[in-house]
Amino acid sequence: MVARMTGITVPYVLQHTLQISPWLHLYDPHFTGLLLHSCDPLVFLDMNKLEIWALQDIEKGDALTMDYASTEDILYRQFPCACGSDNCRGWITGRKERINEQGRRYLQNLERKCG
Ligand SMILES: [Zn+2]
Repeated sequence: MVARMTGITVPYVLQHTLQISPWLHLYDPHFTGLLLHSCDPLVFLDMNKLEIWALQDIEKGDALTMDYASTEDILYRQFPCACGSDNCRGWITGRKERINEQGRRYLQNLERKCG
């Protein structure tokens, strides 16, 4: 275990909230809310126990990353990803939402560039 999470709970999604349940979100603009996304993340967030667990060895100086789709049904904002991992999805959505029009265009352009 890396850390325990804290923050205040709110009934809506903000840019730096993490989903506890569909109706409850943890707002922490200082630490957990600022974890960066990676499709091959260093940590996993247990939103039931509010604990952060390492998924890989973490070296001093590594930026802690998580997979936003592992906690969020619907993201505050979908976005392109260039995390560089072999399993990078290219466009990040929540786990219960479809890729939006902007994402479809982005991924089409990416396929054209990569062949
Ligand atoms: Zn990625």
